[in-house]
Amino acid sequence: VRGNDELGKEEMDESCSAGSIKAMASHIVGYPRMGPKRELKFALEAFWNNKSSAKELQKVAADLRLSIWKQMADAGIKYIPSNTFSYYDHVLDTTAMLGAIPPRYGWNGGEIGFDIYFSMARGNASVPAMEMTKCHYIVPELGPEINFSYASHKAVQEYEEAKAVVSALCEDEITRMTQYHGIDTVPVLVGPVSYLLLSKPAKGVDKSFSLLSLIDKILPVYKEVVDELKTAGASWIQFDEPTLVMDLDAHELRAFTHAYTELESSASGVNVLIETYFADVPAEAYKTVTALKGVTAIGFDLVRGSKTFDLIRNGFPPGKYLLLELALAVELSYEFFFVHSNKLVVSTSCSLLHTAVDSANETKLDEELKSWLAFAAQKLLEVNALAKALTGLKNEAFFSGNAAAHASRRLSPRVTNAAVRKAAASLRGSDHRRATNVSARLESQQKKLNLPNLPTTVLGSFPQTLGLRKIRREYKVNKISEEEYVEAIKEEIRKVVKLQEELDIDVLVHGEPEQRNDMVEYFGEQLSGFAFTDNGWVQSYGSRCVKPPIIYGDVSRPKAMSVFWSTLAQSMTKRPMKGMLTGPVTILNWSFVRNDQPRFETCYQIALAIKDEVEDLQKAGINVIQIDEPSLREGLPLRKYEQAFYLDWAVHSFRITNCAVQDSTQIHTHMCYSNFNDIIHSIIDMDADVISIENSRSDEKLLSVFHEGVKYRAGIGPGVYDIHSPRIPSTEEIAERINKMLAVLDSNILWVNPDCGLKTRKYSEVKPALSNMVAAAKLIRMQL
Ligand code: GLN
Ligand code: ZN
Repeated sequence: VRGNDELGKEEMDESCSAGSIKAMASHIVGYPRMGPKRELKFALEAFWNNKSSAKELQKVAADLRLSIWKQMADAGIKYIPSNTFSYYDHVLDTTAMLGAIPPRYGWNGGEIGFDIYFSMARGNASVPAMEMTKCHYIVPELGPEINFSYASHKAVQEYEEAKAVVSALCEDEITRMTQYHGIDTVPVLVGPVSYLLLSKPAKGVDKSFSLLSLIDKILPVYKEVVDELKTAGASWIQFDEPTLVMDLDAHELRAFTHAYTELESSASGVNVLIETYFADVPAEAYKTVTALKGVTAIGFDLVRGSKTFDLIRNGFPPGKYLLLELALAVELSYEFFFVHSNKLVVSTSCSLLHTAVDSANETKLDEELKSWLAFAAQKLLEVNALAKALTGLKNEAFFSGNAAAHASRRLSPRVTNAAVRKAAASLRGSDHRRATNVSARLESQQKKLNLPNLPTTVLGSFPQTLGLRKIRREYKVNKISEEEYVEAIKEEIRKVVKLQEELDIDVLVHGEPEQRNDMVEYFGEQLSGFAFTDNGWVQSYGSRCVKPPIIYGDVSRPKAMSVFWSTLAQSMTKRPMKGMLTGPVTILNWSFVRNDQPRFETCYQIALAIKDEVEDLQKAGINVIQIDEPSLREGLPLRKYEQAFYLDWAVHSFRITNCAVQDSTQIHTHMCYSNFNDIIHSIIDMDADVISIENSRSDEKLLSVFHEGVKYRAGIGPGVYDIHSPRIPSTEEIAERINKMLAVLDSNILWVNPDCGLKTRKYSEVKPALSNMVAAAKLIRMQL
């Protein structure tokens, strides 16, 4: 810790002579809410399935909150957040707080309870749920007529709950007891401006309605909340305003000035902290936020926003607290450190919400690997150790342990693979694309594949039946032998192939029955450089959790991953069988990615591994290969100036995987969103031969890009029905959709397929739906 090593003698003396050493404060922006073993998930689902009472759910939630607060107190964290817990998501909590309940849920005033809250999140017997964005929060629906009222006192309740914690815990046997005489937390609220910017106009409200015009209507509720928190004893309130890192215009920025000026009088006497995170704060926004009078503290994410650091250097108001991420705090210049030392707070760069909870619960990870990782619980200790060290109270053992772990990681052959590094480095700045243009390639592929007009296909998975799951489970725990497992999977593939032939589908899939419960995990487990956890869950939304793999080292492919199954499936049919792979960008975006090299570097390494696989598939006689990239768009940075760079290396990574295949090998890709109008040129630049895309929920949106005259020459299969619903579409309905597509797309490039994989559906739904789909394609073919 440089700042510490160079700590001036005078400063040390001064702080010591003052009687106690000035401790630099530590702060946590937010914490995972699911619990170390997904306790909240199971409690929520039991409650939803009428297997437990509201009381039982509340008890699980309260226990989780308590254990988190205690854990933070034990770690020595000074500013401990509250109200970061949620039964679903914190934007929905804010909707409840503001009483912004869409009328269809029949709320008659009063405190929002589970019934209204979960109806908004999940729908009920008569009303569907509110929309969830791809960013996984429930989108507020607002309009000019709406009346807000203070309808959920959760923030105050959590604050008081923490304050009421009085218990004793034995810390070490001989001497001390840690006492919790009430934990004085920092209540966290979604800031008023970000709340409005994250909303959408309600149904029936003009799309051009200015959501920000509601600011004066919601501020009175915020004032009530602030007043109540103050009365309860809060001395700090944190407002999360993540939209400050976006590209905001002057009008939007003025809303911040207006809102926090309005709140200033209610908030007098409390420290108002504004948290920003996920990217750097643009210069104009920085000016706005640092000039806010009632605001006494600001948090910046210097991990993903290194440019903000330059702004801070050039001027940060002396009276305010500055909250900085820990690693950067270490690198602060000596001079800077002293200018602000008494108002500098060591914090996390953003909420720990999307970090795994505690590596202590991991049994699969070896000790060396564990020492390279910090889950949320470990980060608490780091933040505190760092805050202490910056004050001169360096825990030598902690820091030398940490330094040793870093050194072992840097030098470990598990991390570094020289050949991979060399190959990936040579990709940067160069270009990789197939030699022939897509129209010529499609011609050469058609000679080989001999497909009808409007060829039909499906996107990979078939229903994951109970029987199939059982086989996989039993194989995993060695209850059945490898031969038995292979035999059972083979049977499953045979069934799926036969069904597709009966349905008369043109390009077949093997159905992904082998251990593919997760399309990233399946490949990650076969690549080197990846690790997997038992409990490294993070909340996706509501009770849904994902367990991302950890990419800790250079990625390579020791041996073929999918060739065995794909060739087996191909041997069962004369029709073309698609090889099925997950693309490098999706593998990257759905993993925890190592932080010791740029993301694109890691992506290129994965791309090279997938390239090997693609070429092996081709060699083994697979003529059609689908490389799924459902998450390409999710990885898009928030700030516009960074987007082009991301798209450039992401698209390049995809092209690397198939740049060397023959013209006659057909490369497909699949994406899970229809909203790609703004990145259409990048999608064309991926240069796949055929792309299938989710479309079922918004024909207009997707097709409008072609209406606007974008010329598309590659094959394209906008989904003709929604696989997310059990509803079976009729032949007429599908035919109508195909006709709509033909209005903007040439018949010789159009494919007919569902909008995503079928794994969540039942065979009783899939069979008639696909049968209607094929019938519709045949019907239209005759009319061409
Ligand atoms: N091939 C995958 C499947 O069909 C695609 C899944 C996805 O797009 N998320 O299941
Ligand atoms: Zn999909």
